[in-house]
Amino acid sequence: MSAQNPWTRLLHDPGSVLTRDLLREPGGFGLGQVPKRVQPDATTAMICGFCGVGCSLDVHRKEGRAVNLSPSAAHPVNRGMACPKGWEALTPLAAPDRATQPLLRDAAGMLRPVDWGEAAQVFCTRMKALQAEHGADAVAFLGTGQIPFEEMAYLGAFAKFGMGTRHGDGNTRQCMATAVVAYKECFGFDAPPFTYADLEESDVLVFIGSNACIAHPILWEHVARNPHDPTLVVIDPRRTETAAQADWHLPLRPKGDLALLYAVAHVLIREGFLDRDFVEAHTEGFEGFAAHVASFDPASVERETGIPAADVERLAHLIHEGQRVSFWWTMGVNQSHQGVLTAQAIIALALMTGNIGRPGAGPCSITGQCNAMGSRLFSNTTCLFGGRSFGDAGHRAEIAELMDMDVERIPTDSGYAYDQIMEGILDGEIRGLWVVATNGAHSWINQRDARAILDKLDFLVVQDMYASTETCAHADLVLPAAGWGEKEGCFINSERRLGVIKQVARAPGKALSDFRIVRLLADAWGCGDLFGAWKTPADVFQVLRESTRGRPCDITGLADYEGFDVLRGAHWPVPAGTQLEVASERRLFEDGRFYTPSGRARFCFGPSRPPADATSPRFPLVLLTGRGTSSQFHTMTRTGKSAVLARLHPREPYVELSTADARALAVDDHAWVVVESPRGKVRVRAFVTTTVPEGSCFMSMHFAETNELTNPSFDPKSREPSYKHCAVSVSRASG
Ligand code: SF4
Repeated sequence: MSAQNPWTRLLHDPGSVLTRDLLREPGGFGLGQVPKRVQPDATTAMICGFCGVGCSLDVHRKEGRAVNLSPSAAHPVNRGMACPKGWEALTPLAAPDRATQPLLRDAAGMLRPVDWGEAAQVFCTRMKALQAEHGADAVAFLGTGQIPFEEMAYLGAFAKFGMGTRHGDGNTRQCMATAVVAYKECFGFDAPPFTYADLEESDVLVFIGSNACIAHPILWEHVARNPHDPTLVVIDPRRTETAAQADWHLPLRPKGDLALLYAVAHVLIREGFLDRDFVEAHTEGFEGFAAHVASFDPASVERETGIPAADVERLAHLIHEGQRVSFWWTMGVNQSHQGVLTAQAIIALALMTGNIGRPGAGPCSITGQCNAMGSRLFSNTTCLFGGRSFGDAGHRAEIAELMDMDVERIPTDSGYAYDQIMEGILDGEIRGLWVVATNGAHSWINQRDARAILDKLDFLVVQDMYASTETCAHADLVLPAAGWGEKEGCFINSERRLGVIKQVARAPGKALSDFRIVRLLADAWGCGDLFGAWKTPADVFQVLRESTRGRPCDITGLADYEGFDVLRGAHWPVPAGTQLEVASERRLFEDGRFYTPSGRARFCFGPSRPPADATSPRFPLVLLTGRGTSSQFHTMTRTGKSAVLARLHPREPYVELSTADARALAVDDHAWVVVESPRGKVRVRAFVTTTVPEGSCFMSMHFAETNELTNPSFDPKSREPSYKHCAVSVSRASG
C-alpha cells in the first residue's frame, strides 16, 4: 500500500515552496488580519464546520477574540492535523459580504435594510397569507447539514408543529439520503456501524465511488497510519487522487457499480466464500439475494462494467482472503439513479462475508457535511426526532408527550423531499419557501430550471451568513445568520461521534444565530409557548437527548456539552449509565443483533436499470462530477472567501478531458471549450489529463456552471439526485 495524503506530505514539508508561500501570506492559515506576534491567552476546542470527518480545531483567543487556530493534537479524529479548509475556518467570518442586517425586497426590486421586528412581521404575514389562500402546505422549508442539530431541530419543529406545514427537507437529500435508506432497510435503523479506527484495522479496504484523499483528507490519514500493510482497492471510473494511492484501481464504466458488486457477490457464492455461520445466525433474505445475483456471472457484465471477468474473480478472492475487510463509499454511490440498491449491494458483500461488527470490518458510508448525521436524527424532516417515523402513531405520541404538545400538531407523514418541493413550486402548489444555510441556486441539479423555479415563488426567504449567494439573488427577504464559531451546539460526524461547537467570535452587525432567528419567528408567529423550554441550544440538547431514550441512537448517557467535550466526543449510542473513556471508539453490531423486528440484518436487492441520460452521437460523453479539491467546500460560499484557499484551486471553471478525446476533438490543454448537455451550455477551460477515461469527462461541483448541465434524475427510493452521470458534448469554443 502506498497510502499517503499528498496534501499532508506537502504541508508537513517545511521546505516546500507551497508551504513557505502560504506561511508568508499575511492572511494565511487562519491568521486572518491578526499579526502573528499576537499571543493568545485562551484556547477553545471545537469541531470543524465544513466536512463530515469532524476534526477538532483549537481556536486561540486573545481578550475573548478569536485570533487564530490550530488542529487539536489530542483528538482521536485528527490528531493534530487539518486540511486546508480547517486551517482557514476563521477567515470566512471576516468576509466583507457578510449579511449584517435583514433585507427586504421593495417594489422596485431592490433589497433594502429593515429591522428584525419588521423582518419577523413580514415573514409571518406573508407566509400566513399564503397558507390562508392555498392551504397549510403551501409553504415549505429547506434546511442544511451545516448547522448544529439543536438549530435544525428548532427549525423543523417550528415549521412542522408551529407553522403547520408538512413539507421540509434539507440539502442532506443531495448527499446522504441514499445511505440512510440503505441502512434503514438492511439494519432496521439508519446506523452506520463503523468508527475511523476501522480504517487502521482493516487488511483489505475497498473504496467505491469515493475520492477520500480529496473529499475527506484527514480521514485518509487514518488509512495512511494502518500498520497492517493493507491492500487498498479503489473502484472508480476516474484515476482519482485516491486511486493513484491504491494498490489496485478498477476503472469501471460510469454507473457500472451495481452490476460489478452483484458479480462479486456471484463469485463469492459460487466459490463458497461465505461466512455461513454469520449469515444463518444474523441475517435474513440471503436465499433470495443468491438467486438474484445468480445471473450476474462476471463475463456477462463485462460490457456493462468495463471490468474484465478475471478482475472480478480476483476481487472476490481478495475479499475472501482478507481477515478484516471494510467497504467505504461516498457520493459516487449515493448520487445515483440506483444508489440505494448499490449501497445495499455493498452492505450485502459485508454481511455475506461476516465483515461487520468486528474491528476493521464493515459497510461504511462517509458523510459529506459536518452535521449530516445530526440532520439524520434531529432535523424533523424525513424522520421525527430520534429517528422516529411520522407515519407511526406511537412515535408521534411519544414526541407529543415529550414536548407537552397536542399530538395533532405532528404531521402523519414526512412531506415532500427536496425534488418534490421544487416540483410543487413549479406546479403552483408551494408558494412560499424558507431556505436556511444552503445555496440551492448553485447546488441543485439542473440549474436553469432550479433558478426559474425559485423565481416562481410568491415569497422566498433566505437565511444565510452572506447576502451574496446565488440563492439570495432570488430572495424577497434575507435574514442574516451567525456562522460557525459565532454560536454553540452539537455536530455528529460520519462515525456517529458527537462533538460541540462554541462561540468564539461575535456575529457582525445585527446577524443572529439560526437558533435565535427561529425563536424570534416562532414568537412572532404566535407559537412561542410551544417552545417555552427551548431558551438556549443547551436546553434543546436536553429535549433531544430525552427523545433518544430507548432508541438505537440513545444518548441519555451524555449529560451536557461539557461532559462529552471532555471525552473528546462520543459515538452514539450512549445509554444512561454508560462508562465512557476519553477518545473511545465503539462500533455497532458487535453482538450480531440488528434493529429489525427479527434482530437480523436483511439482504436487500433489486433489478438494475440504465441511467436516465444515455449518450448519443449528439452528446457522446458522460459527464462525471465531484469535489475538485480539498481546499474548497461545496458551492464555495465560505471557502471562496479565503485568498489562501483560492490559490489552491483553479480560478476558472474547467472540464477534465481524456487525452484521447482531446485529441479527437482537436482541443489543447487550457483551451476554452463549450460543454453542452440537453439542458444547457457552458464555456470552460479544458484540462487534458490521463486520469479521466476515454468517453467521459469531469467537472468540479464547486463551480455553478456544472449544474447547468446535470440531469434531474433521482433514485426512486431515496430521491437523491443523480449528479454523477449525464450526457454531454465538448467542442472548441470560438473566439
Ligand atoms: Fe474540517 Fe473536514 Fe478538513 Fe477535517 S477534513 S479540517 S473536518 S474540512
